[in-house]
Amino acid sequence: MFESLSERLDSAFKQLKGEGRISEINVASTVKEIRRALVDADVNYKIAKDFTDRVREKALGEKVITAISPGQLMVKIVKDELAELMGGTEAELDTKANPTVILIAGLQGSGKTTFSGKLANFLKTKKAKKPLLVAADIYRPAAIDQLKVLGEQIGVEVYSEPENKDAVKIAQNAVQHAKQQGNNIIIIDTAGRLAVDEVMMTEVANVKAAVKPNEILFVVDSMTGQDAVNTAKAFNDRLDFSGVVLTKLDGDTRGGAALTIKYTVEKPIKFVSMGEKLDTLDVFYPERMAQRILG
Ligand code: GDP
Repeated sequence: MFESLSERLDSAFKQLKGEGRISEINVASTVKEIRRALVDADVNYKIAKDFTDRVREKALGEKVITAISPGQLMVKIVKDELAELMGGTEAELDTKANPTVILIAGLQGSGKTTFSGKLANFLKTKKAKKPLLVAADIYRPAAIDQLKVLGEQIGVEVYSEPENKDAVKIAQNAVQHAKQQGNNIIIIDTAGRLAVDEVMMTEVANVKAAVKPNEILFVVDSMTGQDAVNTAKAFNDRLDFSGVVLTKLDGDTRGGAALTIKYTVEKPIKFVSMGEKLDTLDVFYPERMAQRILG
């Protein structure tokens, strides 16, 4: 994950090796290298520039600390700023309500259905909850089957109405069903399209209005870089979601989406998904991610 970014940052810090102290001159070239590394990792230029402006200011503002070299100091400043850019501290999923309704939205292929299964498994095994999965994709019968297979693997009931073409009704009926069955978590997997379109947005907005979810998680494929950020903006404008799920971080992703979604839509990344297996869901910790990037 983010190998290229990690390597590039590492070589930027190496420029400071052997320097006795931080100066305008050595900071300028290091900062420039960091900015290039970020842009090449698919971070929007303005965000990269603001980021390195803050890093430069902090570095030059530091008092001389003899115990720490300029290189180490720069690593620390960049690590703190990366963590801050990604949200600072972790954002928890709010599951206090009984039942808690969680709406899952995103483009087709982003990993929504897989994530829904992972989340149900996570809440069942780690939080002792009793989840109900809801297949609310009225366009692709295969999506219902896919969720059913996942549900069977993790021992979680899947609610579906294959003949019903009204996603709002299905979601409402599912909530009723959950209340009768004593499920305290309802995860609604909505339909996705290949691109943001009006019909899809209206449908998911209608489901939101009808079931008033406690959490709306926007699922996005981290491999799509800046497109992921743009899609997040479009969904957030319409849905005002409560958190982001970044999927496919196990792939050869450059990092732009992870680094800039929070900054762009002002919503936290809550989970990351790093594989197709159902037990690979991870809570997102900005500081740990920053640490990982810096190796
Ligand atoms: P949906 O259309 O949004 O419901 O997406 P799916 O859940 O069907 O996922 C699309 C494809 O991506 C499937 O082949 C999944 O197995 C795969 N996938 C989902 N999440 C991950 C992940 O975190 N890592 C990897 N490598 N593949 C994933």
